[in-house]
Amino acid sequence: MSAFDNASASFAGARHDHGACVRGALATAARLCAARGARLTPLRRRVLELVWRGHAPGSHAPGNHAPVRAYDLLARLTAREQRPAAPPTVYRALEFLLAQGLIHRIESLNAYVGCMNPEGHPEGAHGGQFLICSDCGAAAEVHDPRVDAAVARRAEELGFAVRRKTIEVEGVCPPCQRRQERDHDR
Ligand SMILES: [Zn+2]
Ligand SMILES: [Zn+2]
Ligand SMILES: [Zn+2]
Repeated sequence: MSAFDNASASFAGARHDHGACVRGALATAARLCAARGARLTPLRRRVLELVWRGHAPGSHAPGNHAPVRAYDLLARLTAREQRPAAPPTVYRALEFLLAQGLIHRIESLNAYVGCMNPEGHPEGAHGGQFLICSDCGAAAEVHDPRVDAAVARRAEELGFAVRRKTIEVEGVCPPCQRRQERDHDR
């Protein structure tokens, strides 16, 4: 599980075995759902797999750890099944995966990304911090409980009722920085 539980894999682009990430995520999901008595139906499993596969090959994103829009998931499901996938069933599958903490919703991109450590969150749905590359779209989940605790403490002091605790940080990932440097030197 080396690449899977390592946030740096998110920014490794083509230099890591992303197939191993996908297989690891699906195996973990099956194990977690079985332990919780939650039904990972074939459609839910397929939607999770497509979220994990990330951006389609040939797209701008060199990495595969890029959040995927629901619209693209629908298009890819339809291509694979050779008949249109019904949007409500796909959204219900996404809701299930969110509730189980197997995926996260990135609000700023209106997209979904696989959770890097669902086993670390027996509570299911959870917040986290995401570093998102504005160039290639790759997103890394860095869950620091101290950040959560600091936000929760200030919210409590202010009498603020927290509904969602996901923090989205925008920037440029290491491979994109190197590419920009090369382009600059030319
Ligand atoms: Zn990967
Ligand atoms: Zn997570
Ligand atoms: Zn990037």
